Amino acid sequence: MRKYVFVVGGVLSGVGKGVTSASLGAIFKAKGFRVTAVKADPYVNVDAGTMNPIEHGEVYVTRDGDETDQDMGNYERFLDTDLGSENYMTTGRVYQTVIQNERAMKYGGKCVQVVPHIPEEIMRRIKAADQNKTDITIIEIGGTVGEYENILFLEAARMMKLQTPDDVAFVLVSYLPVPSHLGEMKTKPTQHAARALNSVGIHANVIIARGPLELDAPRREKLAIHCGVPRDRCIAAPDVDSIYRIPLLLEKEDLGNKLLQDLDVKPRTTDLAPWKTFVGRIQRAKRDVRIAVVGKYFGTGEFTLADSYISVIESLKHAAWFHGRRPDLHWVSAEDFEKDSTSVSRLSTFDGILVPGGFGSRGIEGIVNAIRFAREKSIPYFGLCYGMQLACIEFARNVAGLAGANSVEVNPKTPHPVIQLNPLQAKNILEQKYGATMRLGSYGCALKLGSKASKAYGSQFVEERHRHRYEFNNTYRQALEEKGLTVVGVNPESDLVEIVELKDHPFFLGVQFHPEFQSRPMRPHPLFSAFMAAAGKKRNLRG
Ligand code: GLN
Repeated sequence: MRKYVFVVGGVLSGVGKGVTSASLGAIFKAKGFRVTAVKADPYVNVDAGTMNPIEHGEVYVTRDGDETDQDMGNYERFLDTDLGSENYMTTGRVYQTVIQNERAMKYGGKCVQVVPHIPEEIMRRIKAADQNKTDITIIEIGGTVGEYENILFLEAARMMKLQTPDDVAFVLVSYLPVPSHLGEMKTKPTQHAARALNSVGIHANVIIARGPLELDAPRREKLAIHCGVPRDRCIAAPDVDSIYRIPLLLEKEDLGNKLLQDLDVKPRTTDLAPWKTFVGRIQRAKRDVRIAVVGKYFGTGEFTLADSYISVIESLKHAAWFHGRRPDLHWVSAEDFEKDSTSVSRLSTFDGILVPGGFGSRGIEGIVNAIRFAREKSIPYFGLCYGMQLACIEFARNVAGLAGANSVEVNPKTPHPVIQLNPLQAKNILEQKYGATMRLGSYGCALKLGSKASKAYGSQFVEERHRHRYEFNNTYRQALEEKGLTVVGVNPESDLVEIVELKDHPFFLGVQFHPEFQSRPMRPHPLFSAFMAAAGKKRNLRG
């Protein structure tokens, strides 16, 4: 059995199409099916690695090293599964394959055309994702209906429906605004969206009515009549306080079984108990823990910020809830600490400080000031990627006496390149080969027995996902270790430093990788969990 559910958006982007797709996956999984998800991104970029995180949101890295859209993170978290590059495509990637095929004479001298060759390649990719291991594939088409950009993805979906009508269903996630001067929910934009979908030959099986309010009976009736979707298949999806409630919310209206019926299959079981327990845990977590996320992509307001660091934020939440805590997360712009270095003292009100990944030199000195404060004031510190590199720089400068120590990313002429660029990466930069050339995806890490990291993992070997170009310079390893910053994780093949930690500190740990890509709602990442435990202890001291 292989069934396909396409999720498309109407009216507005950013209304939770990704989380809805992921929740649908979680529902099917709870009904006993093997589920995978595919994101079709309309961008011409070959991958998300070259996109600005402020504009596009987080670059989510898969185990096999693909740089993808943040929605892939939602799928992995909700489905509790690892996805790979076959689960992600962009317009650029699709065209790249078709053009390569054409150059290799794979079309046997035919005229290669946008239609059917592009949709055919899209279909091939959808079908190839997790071949033979999956019952249901959820395909989220980026953008909204009525745009030029995603039209070929919709065409592929239409063609699939035509080929195997019983195996394909469509979900339209649409927005129903409540204009403040009217105070009532409006269905008209969604009517237009449903018609736009009809005009490309697709009819929605289900409409997910997103909005600030719950869809009421009169509006449900209106949607049903004007969109031609049965009343009981217009599903209310009002805003909720936690995205992890959405699978339960959608199941209140029996969404899973309705779609399964359309796909001509019966549920094998239904077990939403783990989600119910998890949501109960979130609701019961009352005692707060105050965490500062110190970084630089903070200039454009909280909305985009949350998108740029979504996996970090979710990981902090998973860990906090696991410890029965309510996560109280704050964004702190590192640039503030540059203008006035004494202003770091405001970090003393936090129970933990986290520095996430980043690129470039803006805000770096401010971050270094913040890390110094965390180290000297014994505030739990967790540095991810750049956060680890900068912790090494801070320690080199202020403890090991290596004045001017830096990353060559920030200062190529630094007297102490504690963070360096290997010759291969230097060549990539020189030749402007930026796309997919970082150290990407999963690499092994051997852990030092007795270290905080190995205790947290409960293991001496782990695999973690990477996305960086620069790395720790091993010629400084001894100098830093002698002063107390120990290397407790290395990649066995390359001897690259993966984890550093401070001996005499409640929790001060930096990782060259991105643990946030492996945290799952009901299985927080061990290092986030250890960081949160330390922050919780600090919180208890505050009373
Ligand atoms: N800019 C650093 C590097 O490229 C860190 C990258 C990151 O934090 N993801 O090595």
